[in-house]
Amino acid sequence: MIQDWELMQTNLSRMEKARIEVAVLPIGAIEPHNRHLPYGQDMLHTTEVGRRCVEKAWQATKKVILLPTLPYGVDCNLMDFPFAMHIRQSTLDALVTDLVRTLKHYDIRKIVLLNGHGGNEFKALIRQLQCDEKVHLFLINWWQVGKDQYNEIFELPDDHAGELETSVALHLYPQWVEAEKAGNGKSKAYRFEALNNGWVQTSRNFGKINDHCAVGNPANATAEKGEKYLNLVCDGISRFLIELAESPLDDAFPFRR
Ligand SMILES: [Zn+2]
Repeated sequence: MIQDWELMQTNLSRMEKARIEVAVLPIGAIEPHNRHLPYGQDMLHTTEVGRRCVEKAWQATKKVILLPTLPYGVDCNLMDFPFAMHIRQSTLDALVTDLVRTLKHYDIRKIVLLNGHGGNEFKALIRQLQCDEKVHLFLINWWQVGKDQYNEIFELPDDHAGELETSVALHLYPQWVEAEKAGNGKSKAYRFEALNNGWVQTSRNFGKINDHCAVGNPANATAEKGEKYLNLVCDGISRFLIELAESPLDDAFPFRR
């Protein structure tokens, strides 16, 4: 069955009649995730989050469309490991800029970037594009959507390829998870307390953290936890997409009058 809400599979006869208000662009990465998760992890789970959320929003509004996922992300700090497929942030920004301009050409002015990779940054680009293009851009780092309920679902923190990501993978594509190969995700602390406390920040070279490209222990991951977390995240995101689709683009947008 053709899903009208997914640009990849809909067609011209359907799109000629559609009245789209919101476009969702998922953005992932291709990189190692510990020794047990697929390189496509960030692209795969972000695509699926996008599909679930946009389907719900479409059913309620018929005004939201999902674009194909940009697979690659910023990964230069993982390149001590094989085949972390890096593109520069400026390349990613250029791609997003062109796609935003294309959407504006079709009079789509509410655009959601659904990001699934911590190395991708979009805040500065959003600031600039909103000034230059008179569009409204919204950024969702989907793994952060349920962070206030993280501890109710998961036992251990996850920064990269740990309990959250492994649980989500076990729910979505268990055939590509080799759990028995996973390292424990134990990472080195910084030698500077200010960095450990977070008020001084840097970019981490993952090759210096441990030998398996992970921060966070996946040992307690289960498919059930992954499903629970995805449901939580998708409820929140789809509710936002519905509100966004129904909200008029008046002078006060996106603020209250
Ligand atoms: Zn990831």
